[in-house]
Amino acid sequence: MTETLIENMLEKKGLPEGIWTQCKKCEQMFLQKDFEENLMVCPKCGYYARLDAQKRIEFTADQGSFKEIDGDLIPVDFLDFPGYVDKIKKSPLKDAVVAGEAKIGGYNVVMAAMDFSFMGGSMGSVVGEKIVRAVERAIKRKRPLIIISSSGGARMQEGVLSLMQMGKTSAALAKLADNGLAYISVLTDPTTGGVAASFAMLGDVNIAEPGALIGFAGPRVIEQTIRQQLPEGFQLSEFLEKHGMVDIVVERKNMKEVLAKVLKFFVKK
Ligand SMILES: [Zn+2]
Repeated sequence: MTETLIENMLEKKGLPEGIWTQCKKCEQMFLQKDFEENLMVCPKCGYYARLDAQKRIEFTADQGSFKEIDGDLIPVDFLDFPGYVDKIKKSPLKDAVVAGEAKIGGYNVVMAAMDFSFMGGSMGSVVGEKIVRAVERAIKRKRPLIIISSSGGARMQEGVLSLMQMGKTSAALAKLADNGLAYISVLTDPTTGGVAASFAMLGDVNIAEPGALIGFAGPRVIEQTIRQQLPEGFQLSEFLEKHGMVDIVVERKNMKEVLAKVLKFFVKK
């Protein structure tokens, strides 16, 4: 359905904007309310719409249990990178990750959810710092950590300072492991670049949503570098599960239950 048709429909029915939503893949229209009740998975074709951090937390944490931490950290334009400040200002979000304490299936956890809508979920200094602080909080509180990733990789506007976050987050997670605490990584579409090459792939258990693109470099870059054609479904969750890169592919509707089961395995009540 074209956008004009939708606009006409909305006009005729006199409905406020935002009441309808459309599947990006099969273009079927749904009531926003019904679509959200189905966790933003298309009931017709099964397409997984991307979730912002707020929705992700709402669908994952026990109702009303999430308490945000470090929500006041904001990015700094260290390099005076053209257009960076404007991009930051345009978004209602402060940066590409939301972290906090929560309960999942009754288990106390520290959790973080990335938001692809803020500059492609890219990791700059604020994302790195918030992830590290979440790890430190998990250690202090002796709680497991859950990070739900969705990212295009390191943030080019922060140059080498964003690349540094790969080492910084990985080192923090090593400390979490030294403390005998579990880290569950949830990989959603897309998890690529510097985030895939650091904390997203370091879970004691790595869980992926179906059909998610997960990898370091994109398929075209790899094909051009190794001069070989890549196999079908390369870098999708199911391929990675088959080849041992992710442990389980879990449907969105089962994610909370599976996380609770994994937490039960790691946590002594
Ligand atoms: Zn669809």
